[in-house]
Amino acid sequence: MATNGRLNRKLRMGIVGGGQGSFIGRVHVTAAVLDNRAALVAGAFSSDPERSKASAADYDVCDDRAYGSYAEMFEKERALPEGERIDYVSVATPNHMHFPVAKAAVEAGFHVVCDKPLTLTLAEAEELAEVVRNSASVFVVTHNYTGYPLVRQAREMILSGELGEIQAIRSEYIQGWLRTRLEGEGQKQASWRTDPKRSGAAGAFGDIGTHAYNLGRYMTGLFPEKISANLKAFVPDRPLDDYGQAVIRYENGGLGSVTASQISHGRENDLRIQIDGTLASLEWHQENPNQLFVRKNGHPHAIYTRDPNAPFTNVMGQAACRLPAGHPEAFFEAFANVYRCGFDAMEQAICGDAFERTDTVYPNIHDGVEGMYFIEQAVASSQADAAWLPLKHPLARR
Ligand code: NAD
Repeated sequence: MATNGRLNRKLRMGIVGGGQGSFIGRVHVTAAVLDNRAALVAGAFSSDPERSKASAADYDVCDDRAYGSYAEMFEKERALPEGERIDYVSVATPNHMHFPVAKAAVEAGFHVVCDKPLTLTLAEAEELAEVVRNSASVFVVTHNYTGYPLVRQAREMILSGELGEIQAIRSEYIQGWLRTRLEGEGQKQASWRTDPKRSGAAGAFGDIGTHAYNLGRYMTGLFPEKISANLKAFVPDRPLDDYGQAVIRYENGGLGSVTASQISHGRENDLRIQIDGTLASLEWHQENPNQLFVRKNGHPHAIYTRDPNAPFTNVMGQAACRLPAGHPEAFFEAFANVYRCGFDAMEQAICGDAFERTDTVYPNIHDGVEGMYFIEQAVASSQADAAWLPLKHPLARR
């Protein structure tokens, strides 16, 4: 039953992925339940049916809703009464499974929260976008860094003109964990990320370069025009890039750069972005996410802290906070903010209300397609000696 466009019940979640030994599935579940608006009730946790069933207990999912495959989950959940079946599916598998799972979920009438990159290929992403367009499903893509309160604060500051015209974006995502050939030792996360059949056309650029690119797009709204890229695998016998740099021209004449590395000694998840406007510049680091640096020539440097009660905190920043200032919020909370905005849309959809599909606070199918275009054009440019290639996709968010 609906009340005032909001459900008076929790949303029911089914997950694909997140089995024992995996990484991001557990984060999806934690983020989804953080605000007490959803419960995990079903899952196809692994490609191995036995492991899937064994994983269910870790999430308190009962045996009869621990499925051997995603196809079985969709079929059996569809057959349940409307008041019991899952409302949405979270996709936390390696990249090559995003398309078949997400497409089948939308076709079965479920809402979807899909991890990035959206699919294995751009063609799949475009096909998926068409399926979503012809459906009544909410589709969320977990570019989770967009959920940080100070990222949203910065976005509102930029979109309202506080920084003036944006002329430069420098974003980078620097890691070091693939410095050695970890995939040769059978490490699960390294194995599929360095395999083109499961990862896609790019390695580091697809895995983390897309996050860095998405963050710049999300925070500034600048529309891209062209890209020139150099990608390289420095570790011998690795078929996909573990380091790359791209230069981007934006439609307004602005310039951007994206650097992604998985081979930099000692670097963890160092996603950082610097944005220059004609009136001010700003800088944000995900490893220090509760501070935003804003600078203006001739003025003392300002550090905005994540503070829901401060007069300098804008509406977007405040809406993304849960705790008072000084109690650090980080990865889980930001991930949960992406879910929270997706849940608002799902509740509207379930209540029969219209919901926004393009200009959403959460990253959506358009951002997902754009991410795939970024990957494929960066790879194509690199293969053509850093040739300038178009980066405007007709489905990109305007
Ligand atoms: P992982 O290898 O740790 O986990 C993948 C899980 O999917 C495993 O449990 C595996 O058994 C399961 N799986 C594989 N095929 C399946 C199938 N057919 N049916 C059901 N389950 C299946 O990988 P990970 O590091 O958690 O990454 C998963 C996805 O999340 C990737 O697309 C990755 O790019 C993305 N990711 C996003 C973030 C982020 O910050 N948004 C961080 C890490 C990973």
